[in-house]
Amino acid sequence: MNSCMNSSPLQTTMLEQLNDKHLFDLARSQAYDYLDTLRARRVYPGESALAALSLFHEAMPPTPCPAEEVLRLLHTHGSPATVAQSAGRYFGFVNGGALPAALAARWLADIWDQNAALSVMSPVVAELESVCEEWLVELFGLPSGTAAGFVGGSATATLCGLAAGRDKILQAFGWDLGADGLFGAPRPRIILGEQAHATVWKALRLLGFGRAQVEIVPADAQGRLRADRLPALDASCLLVAQAGNVNSGSFDPLKEICRRARLAGAWVHVDGAFGLWAAACESTRFLTDGVAQADSWSVDAHKTLNAPYDVGVVLCRNRDALLEAMRIGASYIPDGEQRDGMRLTPEMSRRARVVELWATLKSLGRAGVTDLLERLCRHARRFGQDLAAHGFRVLNEVVFNQVLVACDTPAHTTATLAQLQRAGECWCGGTFWQGEPVIRISVCSWATTDDDVQRTVAAFVDARAIAASA
Ligand SMILES: *Cc1c(COP(=O)(O)O)cnc(C)c1O
Repeated sequence: MNSCMNSSPLQTTMLEQLNDKHLFDLARSQAYDYLDTLRARRVYPGESALAALSLFHEAMPPTPCPAEEVLRLLHTHGSPATVAQSAGRYFGFVNGGALPAALAARWLADIWDQNAALSVMSPVVAELESVCEEWLVELFGLPSGTAAGFVGGSATATLCGLAAGRDKILQAFGWDLGADGLFGAPRPRIILGEQAHATVWKALRLLGFGRAQVEIVPADAQGRLRADRLPALDASCLLVAQAGNVNSGSFDPLKEICRRARLAGAWVHVDGAFGLWAAACESTRFLTDGVAQADSWSVDAHKTLNAPYDVGVVLCRNRDALLEAMRIGASYIPDGEQRDGMRLTPEMSRRARVVELWATLKSLGRAGVTDLLERLCRHARRFGQDLAAHGFRVLNEVVFNQVLVACDTPAHTTATLAQLQRAGECWCGGTFWQGEPVIRISVCSWATTDDDVQRTVAAFVDARAIAASA
C-alpha cells in the first residue's frame, strides 16, 4: 500500500510545512518585527491592545485553520498585548529577561522536541543535565555530589526539596512514607520565617502540612528571619530559610540558621529563587555565607540568570533522599546507571529546558554571570540613590536587586504607582511593607541600561507630580 494514500490532506500539508519552511520563516520575521519594535513600545499593553484580546474568545473551532493564519492572529493581536519584559524597563515582580543566546538555543531545542524524562529518550538532554548539575554546584559553592532536578520554577523546586526533607525526617522516625503514607505518621515540626514566600506555604499544603502546624519565626526590619528567635531545634524539624526576600531582597542569616540546624540534625531548605545567584558572584557572595550547610535549595534560572521561562532547579545534598522522594517505577522504564531526569523531579515527560540553562551558562561563563549580577545590583543601588535624591522614601537596605519606594503618604504612593502603570514608560508592581503600600522595583533583566534607569526615575517623578495634582 502506498503510504501517501493513507495520508490525510492535513498531514500532507504539515509534511510540506516542515519541508518548505515557509511557516518558520514567517514566525521568524514576526519575531524579528517584535524585537525591532520592543524598546519603542509601552512596557505594559495599552487599553486598545488589551481590548483586542477578545478576538481570541471563540468556541473550539470545528475545522482546521491554516497555520499562516494562526501565526498572523498571534502576531496581530497577541504581540501588542504582551508585556515588554525584555525591553529594559520592566521591573515587576522578580521577572528576568531572556538572554539572546538562550533564546536562540531554545528555538533550536524546540525543533529537536526532546523528552527529558529518560536518558534513553534523549541522550543529549541527559548529558546537558549532568553538566549543568556540576556547574551549578560549583557556581553556588555547594557540597560536591549535590543532585539537581530541572523543573519549571522555584515553586516546584521547593516542593521537591521539602518532600525530600519530609521523607528523610519520617524515615528517621522509622516511618516508611512510601509504604504507609502520611496519615497517622509522626509529625515533623515545620519552621518558617515570618516572611517565607507564598510558594513555601503552597508546597507545605501539597505535602500534607497545615498552617496550624507551622512554627513561625519573627523577622527583622529587613524581612530576615531572626536567628535569635529560632525555637529549640531537633531532628524532627524541617526549616525553610530564604536567600532573597521577595520584597526587600534581604538574606536570612544562613550561617547561623544552618549551624543551629546541623547541631540538631534538622533539615534546612533554602528558598533561593532569585537570591541564590548571589553565591555565584565574588562581590555578593557574603550575602549567602553559610548556604552550603543547608540540605536542599531551590533556585530559578529564569529570574536573576535571565534564562527564558520555565527553568527552575531543585538541589539536594543527599542525592538518594531526592531520588527516594521522587521514586517511580514501571515495567517499561529501564533501570540503570544513566541519568534519568524524571527520577529527580515530580514530572515524567518534560521539555528539554536544560538546553536553555546550558546555553545561558556556557555563553556567559563565570565572568558573564558576575557581569550580569553586578549590573543588576548597580542599577538597583542607583535607583535607591536617585529616587531618594528626588525625595522618595527608600524603605529597604538595597543589598541586592530589590528596591522598595514610597511617597510621603500611603495614598500618594498608591496614586503614583497607578499613574506609573498607566503611563507605560516602565512597569513596577506594588506590595505592602511594614504595613504600608509601597512601589516595588526589581532589577532583574540583563537588558536594563543606565539610560533605562534614568528614564524610569524620570517616570517616577512625573507620575508623582500627576498623582499629586489629580
Ligand atoms: C519567584 C519566587 C518563588 C517562586 O518561583 P517560581 O519560579 O515563580 O515558581 C519562590 N520564592 C521566591 C523568594 C521567589 O522570588
